[in-house]
Amino acid sequence: MNITLAFQELDDLIVRHAPPQDRSVLRNKLHLLRDQVEAYIVEKEKLTFDHMTLIQNYEALRLSQSKESAEFVTHMGVLWKRTPVGFEARPYCKECRSVMTPVPRARIWVCSTGGHHAPLGVNPPTD
Ligand SMILES: [Zn+2]
Repeated sequence: MNITLAFQELDDLIVRHAPPQDRSVLRNKLHLLRDQVEAYIVEKEKLTFDHMTLIQNYEALRLSQSKESAEFVTHMGVLWKRTPVGFEARPYCKECRSVMTPVPRARIWVCSTGGHHAPLGVNPPTD
């Protein structure tokens, strides 16, 4: 059903059949409802577009992470990047995926954002 057409038909019925003293009030209420419904439809179309965009972004992110998971292995709470012969010596942050730097005095690894730590004693997987 075309909602715009339905509102127009209702407006026409009011004009033809409502008592003259009530027409203006009824038409004003109908026009207010029509405007609100049209605003909801516009908002729903925007939300549908946003939703589709989010789904596409999610699928792209999921695909990129599945590629990364072949490249990285989680072990001892951090990520280890594969090399042809094993793993890189420095771990990667599990939260932000940046390479970590050792801070020997504090006995920790720190990611490049500085926001995440791991114990200095973490080691790459042995396989
Ligand atoms: Zn981090």
